Amino acid sequence: MNTSNEIKNSFKVKSQCTELHHITSLESLIEKSNDGTLNSHTSIIGGGYNIIPRSFIDGIVIKSDLKTIEITLDTKDYILIKAGSGVVWDDFVGFTVMQGYLGLENLSLIPGSVGAAPVQNIGAYGVEASTFIHTVHCFNLDTGTFLDLTNEQCALGYRSSIFKSRPELFITHVTFRLCKSNLLVKELANSAHYNKLEFLKDSARLIQLSFKSINLKLLPKPKIKFSFNCVRDILKLCIIPARIKRKLVIYIRTRTLHSPDKIGNCGCFFKCPILPSASFRTLKDIYPDVEWFEHDSNSVKISACWLMKNTNWSGKTFNNVRIESKRPVVLMNAGDATGEDVLHVMDKIQQDVKNKFNISLEAEIVVL
Ligand SMILES: Cc1cc2nc3c(=O)[nH]c(=O)nc-3n(C[C@H](O)[C@H](O)[C@H](O)COP(=O)(O)OP(=O)(O)OC[C@H]3O[C@@H](n4cnc5c(N)ncnc54)[C@H](O)[C@@H]3O)c2cc1C
Repeated sequence: MNTSNEIKNSFKVKSQCTELHHITSLESLIEKSNDGTLNSHTSIIGGGYNIIPRSFIDGIVIKSDLKTIEITLDTKDYILIKAGSGVVWDDFVGFTVMQGYLGLENLSLIPGSVGAAPVQNIGAYGVEASTFIHTVHCFNLDTGTFLDLTNEQCALGYRSSIFKSRPELFITHVTFRLCKSNLLVKELANSAHYNKLEFLKDSARLIQLSFKSINLKLLPKPKIKFSFNCVRDILKLCIIPARIKRKLVIYIRTRTLHSPDKIGNCGCFFKCPILPSASFRTLKDIYPDVEWFEHDSNSVKISACWLMKNTNWSGKTFNNVRIESKRPVVLMNAGDATGEDVLHVMDKIQQDVKNKFNISLEAEIVVL
């Protein structure tokens, strides 16, 4: 294998492309565009944490190595901060939290690059990148021109955005709007004024949630176990500083998620399907134990894990792909799976869910 054309990916499937180019400056991007190398058929990758590439990609692949971070506006209450698409996402989050800018702490340790954050509209612990994205700066690979998209123009939704249907847009930078005070956290916690009463309420809630999170087992040996069920609620509390929230998120993620360094995976492989309330009620009549989450006033999210458990996929190994038993939405490379093996398993799971529930299980990962 020619390692210089290797498509590195966290599922650890072997893949090569005809040519792999690293974009290190806007000048090199313009140069490659002028000589006709780039167009909308060019594939774009970031860190490779959410892609399943086929064994051979017959074409050009580009990857951003644009790594600047600059504050473009600094006001009393908020800042605008512009980061290159090649910056490692968690380095960026760490930088903003350390500087005292609030907002991204719940998104700590999500693997990948800044450039992919708007594409997938990454999210965790009740927060999505869309809340903080101000402008996405792009280069149109077909026309060779730069353009900026506002938050609204990006059509950011649950793990979706306009970029999924605009392959000609290469993201060069992303500008985020982050708060300097606790204002934004207050917004997230749905409270308008953070006064003494709020502070007392928050403190009481923190104590209550802390007790709820501790599970004391006395027999046969006394044991204290922490449950992470209340973590979303804890992270909403204004009295907890962003640095502590980041530490808490990192602590939980390192203990609950499979590190791709140890076993190939892409995090959640499938999205939770969104059903209109009426279809959900019909489903619940047939399957009263269906697991679901609130989405908006007209629809609910059905747990992809529940759908996979109820089509007997949890714990299975098929085509060199292992499906996690507790969280079957996580697929893992059981050995030497190829991209094609993984896509075959993906099809099978989608077919089974469709046949049993008439629900389309959409992939969260991107197939290259
Ligand atoms: C263990 C693990 C845990 C995870 N946990 C979470 C989680 O909690 N929440 C979550 O949302 N995701 C999670 N993910 C998924 C993944 O981290 C995110 O989707 C991340 O944004 C992928 O970044 P990347 O740079 O690796 O992008 P890639 O996987 O390389 O690419 C993803 C998509 O973005 C596009 N893209 C990348 N860079 C650019 C660019 N510069 N311009 C245009 N398009 C571009 C690619 O074409 C592709 O469509 C997890 C993954 C793993 C492995």
